[in-house]
Amino acid sequence: MSSTDTDHEYTTPRPFRYDAEVQPGEKRHFMYKVGESYLGHPVEVPVTVINGDHAGPRLFVTAAVHGDELNGVNVIQQVVKRYEPTDIHGTLVCIHVVNVPGYVAQQRYIPGYDLDMNRAFPGKPNGNDAQRMAHVLYERFLSKCDMGIDFHTSTRNRMTTYHVRANMDDPAVDRLARAFGSALFMSSEGASGMLRRVASEDGIPTITVEMGEAHRFQPLLGENALAGIENVMASYGMLPTVTPKEQTWSKVISSSSEKTWIRADDGGLVEWQFGPYPIVDEGETICTVSNHFGTEEHVVTAPFTGFLAGVLANPMVLPGQPVCHLVKVDPDDRHKVEALFDVVGFQYQTTYHWLGKTKTSLPQITDVMVPVDEATAASSAADSTTAE
Ligand SMILES: [Zn+2]
Repeated sequence: MSSTDTDHEYTTPRPFRYDAEVQPGEKRHFMYKVGESYLGHPVEVPVTVINGDHAGPRLFVTAAVHGDELNGVNVIQQVVKRYEPTDIHGTLVCIHVVNVPGYVAQQRYIPGYDLDMNRAFPGKPNGNDAQRMAHVLYERFLSKCDMGIDFHTSTRNRMTTYHVRANMDDPAVDRLARAFGSALFMSSEGASGMLRRVASEDGIPTITVEMGEAHRFQPLLGENALAGIENVMASYGMLPTVTPKEQTWSKVISSSSEKTWIRADDGGLVEWQFGPYPIVDEGETICTVSNHFGTEEHVVTAPFTGFLAGVLANPMVLPGQPVCHLVKVDPDDRHKVEALFDVVGFQYQTTYHWLGKTKTSLPQITDVMVPVDEATAASSAADSTTAE
């Protein structure tokens, strides 16, 4: 397969073959065995293949390569409800959970030997546990696609601003990443064994989407991801009735001089000082690290103007621990970044993710209190017959 295959004119609808066939016009949900547990029970991955009535390219979407990164699981659950074979020109191949053992244990790596599925691709039929599972998935499903989107989140106790990681030096990958859309693209070829790198080098342009926190469903981020998938499908002719859109501004980070992890020099409790947007000017206070008495406070400032691509979610910090990932932005572009964050909703993703889509603030405890006079009257009447 070459990287120009996404432009290939498919004229005849094709069955999707793994070791069975999903015919054009068919949507199939199934569990697929990729390995075995200690008890010898099958380890099965949930898969959905939506094979369109009409000919077109094949797109894979994958989630939970790291077992505790759940936002993508929610995105794929919605994708498979959203599209029917009658809508699609081509095929959607959805691997709902890649790392099932990690998912069941609610941890990043495969339990036991802490193997990282995202260093195990394309896998080996006679390799370790991770490589064998990767091999089955890659061989049967992923390698048969023309392009792919792999959903991740930050690791536990951190929070990642919505962004795309991709090798933007590869024109086919760059095209896919821009079709998906993001304020920020972090460009690198990726580590050896990483799904996006292996697939892209194999002629299947693939990007990683980083969104929010581990262990969460964050619906506002999910809506962005669904819009991104839809625009990818529109851009590659998979949804002829949808007009593809293009971004007017984005930031591509390709050199390490444009980003830095800022580390705490003191142990203590972190209090964020930035906001409402995750953008800071050079010299501005990002956070303070204080002791428990509040008598000592160390200030962490921004070495350059930039936006916070990732921050600590757990407020406890040790000297040397990273508190945030700062990405350089031209001060003149600040308003463009702010406009994008109005859409992406940085505040929602950190605080309001469990409240759904419409709430903009949390109710205060005082909202459900009544005036003191009424409360006293009510409690003295009630308390006359009760004892603690
Ligand atoms: Zn991940």
